[in-house]
Amino acid sequence: MNILENIKPSGKEKEKLDKIVNNILNKLNSNLIAAKAIPGGSYAKDTWLKGDHDIDVFVLFNKKYDEKNISDVLWKALKKSFLRPKKKIHGSRTYYKIKKGKYIFEIVPVIEINNPEEALNIMDISPLHVDWVNENAKDLKDEIRKIKAFCKAAHCYGAESYIKGFSGYVLEILTIFYGSFDNLVKSAVKWKKKDIIDFKKRNIKILNKSKISPLIVIDPVQKERNAAAALSLEKFNLFKEYCKEYLKNKDEKFFIKEIKIPEDAIVIEVKPVKGREDIVGSKLLKVYDYIKEKLDGDFGVKESFWYWNKKVLLWYVLKEKELKQFKKHYGPSIEDEKNIERFKEKWKNYKVYEENGYVYINIKRKDTEIKPYLKSLFKDDYIKEKVKKIKIKTFPKSL
Ligand code: ATP
Ligand code: MG
Repeated sequence: MNILENIKPSGKEKEKLDKIVNNILNKLNSNLIAAKAIPGGSYAKDTWLKGDHDIDVFVLFNKKYDEKNISDVLWKALKKSFLRPKKKIHGSRTYYKIKKGKYIFEIVPVIEINNPEEALNIMDISPLHVDWVNENAKDLKDEIRKIKAFCKAAHCYGAESYIKGFSGYVLEILTIFYGSFDNLVKSAVKWKKKDIIDFKKRNIKILNKSKISPLIVIDPVQKERNAAAALSLEKFNLFKEYCKEYLKNKDEKFFIKEIKIPEDAIVIEVKPVKGREDIVGSKLLKVYDYIKEKLDGDFGVKESFWYWNKKVLLWYVLKEKELKQFKKHYGPSIEDEKNIERFKEKWKNYKVYEENGYVYINIKRKDTEIKPYLKSLFKDDYIKEKVKKIKIKTFPKSL
């Protein structure tokens, strides 16, 4: 099996991209003073995957620049270079997106630093990540490509707040730590919660408690930082499970991302609102979680997942086909005589029961079937304000 053929950019693809990147860098550099545009991210690390269209460019500004105006200086230089940004991204520091054919360039202004303590913004450290990976992964670039493709196929790639998986940088650190794709996958199966990946095997106490995640990856560039802080327990487990399956059957299919939805799943299609990817993504995740929580409380959820490619699909497999017609509505504790009187008065046409020290009545539900239940759920403000449109896409025959 030759996985690399499918995931490593061909010489031709690389050549073509190099030309486009150099062209942009040259134009921009001729309009910059005491600043320099250089390749960044996985393009600079040579760990990008075939077909990738997102390229990071860092513009290093001399320390004499005031942090506050480097975004403006870059904006002017871009305009002078006839590289009018398609978008301004207002994060902790404003950066720009430029489209060139099918490629999208993220042009990020950073202050040039030699060590992380000098950073004024997390973005300033990115070039140091590139240097570290290039120094330590000289012969591992293809191994990194393999784990990136593998992790993408496992739906675990990306540290964005709506994905909570492994960032490219974390996978690079892990590949260097374990020395190869195979060794990383074999080791991952044995990871326990709160394991620490540290080149120097030090004490975890140096880390801020809020930065503790299921796997702690000490950033080799910034020793006090957990590079995997964004990783959720769900994605940690999903990744381990995926590695386990792969080791049973080392098939090429494990490197190809596909969307598999169980036959008995209810599939919901969402049209997202417009806006910044991380903000839109967080809203989608909230909607997915909200529906999951509701369904789980009322029907039980066996399995669920969500995807955001061109379309957004949320799917849920339920334990129960129908809601129980009656729902327990709890009242005060049995010792609280005064309030029990009130409760009985309010629900005088109902029989009052007791359970675990509390009284309750059985209320008949409006919707006992899933379809009307979902349709009325979609009308909740919590959902309505987070999506443009939401509808049931497919409903399993078994329900
Ligand atoms: P990919 O192939 O997915 O583009 P990449 O390494 O280029 O991989 P990006 O997400 O494009 O990763 O980010 C570009 C660079 O920005 C990274 O190499 C890293 O140095 C830095 N970076 C991105 N996200 C973070 C983060 N959450 N914390 C710190 N640095 C980050
Ligand atoms: Mg990138």
